[in-house]
Amino acid sequence: MSANNARLLFTLLASLLLAACAHVPVESVSTNDREAIAARMMADIEVLASDELGGRKPGTPGEEATIAFLEQRMGEAGLVSGTGDPGSYWRMPVDLVSTRALSGQLTLTQGLNSVTVPESDAIVFTPRRRALATSGPATGVPVVFVGKGDGLVLTDAMAGAVAVMLPDPSRDVARRAALFDQRATAVLTVVPDEAAIARLRRAGSRERVRLASEDKDTLSAYITDAAMAAFMGEARWARMKADADAEDFSPIEINLAITLEAAADRREFTSYNLVGKIAGSAPDAGAVLLLGHWDHLGECGPADAEDRICKGAADNASGIAAMLELAQRLKSGPPLARDIYVLATTAEESGLLGARAFAEAPPLALTQIVAAFNFDMVSVAPAGSALGFIGRGATPLDQIIIDHAARSGRTLGDEALAASFVQRQDGAALLNAGVPTVLLSSSYGTSEILQPFLSSRYHRPSDTPAALDLSGAVEDLLLHEGLIRIIADPARYQPPAG
Ligand SMILES: [Zn+2]
Repeated sequence: MSANNARLLFTLLASLLLAACAHVPVESVSTNDREAIAARMMADIEVLASDELGGRKPGTPGEEATIAFLEQRMGEAGLVSGTGDPGSYWRMPVDLVSTRALSGQLTLTQGLNSVTVPESDAIVFTPRRRALATSGPATGVPVVFVGKGDGLVLTDAMAGAVAVMLPDPSRDVARRAALFDQRATAVLTVVPDEAAIARLRRAGSRERVRLASEDKDTLSAYITDAAMAAFMGEARWARMKADADAEDFSPIEINLAITLEAAADRREFTSYNLVGKIAGSAPDAGAVLLLGHWDHLGECGPADAEDRICKGAADNASGIAAMLELAQRLKSGPPLARDIYVLATTAEESGLLGARAFAEAPPLALTQIVAAFNFDMVSVAPAGSALGFIGRGATPLDQIIIDHAARSGRTLGDEALAASFVQRQDGAALLNAGVPTVLLSSSYGTSEILQPFLSSRYHRPSDTPAALDLSGAVEDLLLHEGLIRIIADPARYQPPAG
């Protein structure tokens, strides 16, 4: 071996040692320390998953108890207010509307012939407590047959009308929305059979929660093709359907009177996102956001079960516990340049509503957030498992994450499995708003690890603290700590321009 080569080897070894030293705080965390982290997380999980919190359902006494606990823990972690609102230290209100269908009735009238369609063949929904609409020749409210279209060709002629539309399953939701945007009074959708009505009835009998900002005054009815044919006459109905398939079809007013009545159990209430912050020394350089949803399903077991409370220990007491522990470690370690925001969202289980509300009215400009990390169901895998990377390919963070995982000795998990969860987590609401958001967790590394959890404990009363394995979560937490220290330092990470 020549001297030159020896020097090269020495340089190489020295740089490897330096690289290792740079990560000593995280990589050298001892087994004892890891167990201490797991114990602290478990203490939080046991409170969050206790019967006293009742399954952490938004709008219930369990919410107030959950929030009181989180406010206390955010203070203990050394966070300060992140709401940007002097009037509200931790809480950002999220106005919600809960509805559940109670009853509905559809009556068709033509001349002297009037039929109230039996429940097996029709259903009517409203998000209001009560709604009633009449239409037809004598009422000034036209009934317009739009076929498989959405009425948009009529410009403003749909305003006030009742639309009758044929099904086109992949587009029905969008077509109904387009018709209501044109201020249609009601939309009657023809469905293939009674089984479709039964499915709608089951779905409607379940509580549905939406953002008050997205609450629309709609009146939606459904009728079977057979009931429509029976009332209109087989031949005429067949002709109308054939016409609708023609290329030059345009919506036509039909000689039919429709009366719709519906009632719903409706409740308006305010829930809360909680936002804390670790103030950095260079807040103008942007911020890193940590988020996890605090809510769960409340009571969800079968009505006759002894224990009906869905405790959501993994989903998502574990993510909140990981986020709090991480925030505490970031706060108590070396000072950070960028701000760290810590967001506990509400109503994730109802469709990422809290995260969407945050994205609609954020306490800092979303463009300021250089990276966001979601924590959801993080307690499924043992240490040594592959790392699931949700949001891979969707942000400029891929390389820095992949490099850091490799330096930490982690292997990355099944890409397709992780990708299948992108839309099912709060990060999707932020990604859709342009915030680079990922979820890194060994829970989503392989289906061998995730599937047994999904099929036995997910969204069931059996998702309890006793069933958790926190060793993978601790390993993932330490990975986040190192990664966030890099990303929070403008000298080590700059988001791409523009
Ligand atoms: Zn869930």
